[in-house]
Amino acid sequence: MLALDNIGKTYPNGVHALDGIELRVDLGEIVAVLGGSGCGKSTLLRLIAGLDRPDPGRVTLDGTDMNGPHEKIGVVFQEPRLLPWLSVAQNVGFGLRGKRLAERRRLIEDALQRVGLADKADVWPRELSGGQAQRVSIARALVTRPEVLLLDEPFSALDAFTRIDLQDHLLHVWAQTHPRPTLIVVTHDIDEAIVLADRIVIMRPHPGRVQAEIAVDLDRP
Ligand code: ADP
Ligand code: ADP
Repeated sequence: MLALDNIGKTYPNGVHALDGIELRVDLGEIVAVLGGSGCGKSTLLRLIAGLDRPDPGRVTLDGTDMNGPHEKIGVVFQEPRLLPWLSVAQNVGFGLRGKRLAERRRLIEDALQRVGLADKADVWPRELSGGQAQRVSIARALVTRPEVLLLDEPFSALDAFTRIDLQDHLLHVWAQTHPRPTLIVVTHDIDEAIVLADRIVIMRPHPGRVQAEIAVDLDRP
């Protein structure tokens, strides 16, 4: 279980971005964090990812403090952020340096397979469509088989057709992964939250707080 206990964050410029956030997310749950611009959604994701430190409060995963980037937590950003001088496979395997070559190959192939891009391993990022590039960034986040996948407005830069396609891909990957990972999707799009999530956490700003939580009664396979 992912647990956020009394999380706060004030930036050095004095902006009080988050206050008193309490959240429990079970393994395999899909939570959408919904709110307008400036509610602290990205800040919250960065704290969970260990890319920044909360003050006060703590983030724990299965009881262990998350005080730094961790291979049990994967992150997908709004833009794919692929390195243009590396192939798709090299981008996906970027976080696997240190593992043996055969193991690395196996994990990269498996991750690309899961997002339906096994045939794109050797192409350059510039050869991909926007939706494909975002699927590669999902593969890169999944390659370490994380327990938690954090997605920060992952579809908002895509056209409506590609967005729906990618939402399907994400749910498919989630359903086919055992055990199912926890997904936390930040969005300002209520339709997206309803399509994807078991639970919607609504935030409000100044400072960022949880305003309400809604359970979505989805009929999943
Ligand atoms: P959201 O993702 O909901 O738009 P953010 O987490 O990006 O919200 O921002 C929450 C508040 O914190 C905003 O007022 C924003 O201007 C401020 N903020 C975000 N990042 C920083 C930063 N690195 N330094 C200072 N203020 C920041
Ligand atoms: P979208 O408009 O949906 O982002 P594109 O029209 O860019 O998609 O791409 C459609 C298809 O063409 C994709 O399968 C993509 O891999 C391929 N493609 C796009 N650009 C190139 C390129 N420069 N070289 C080779 N294939 C490409």
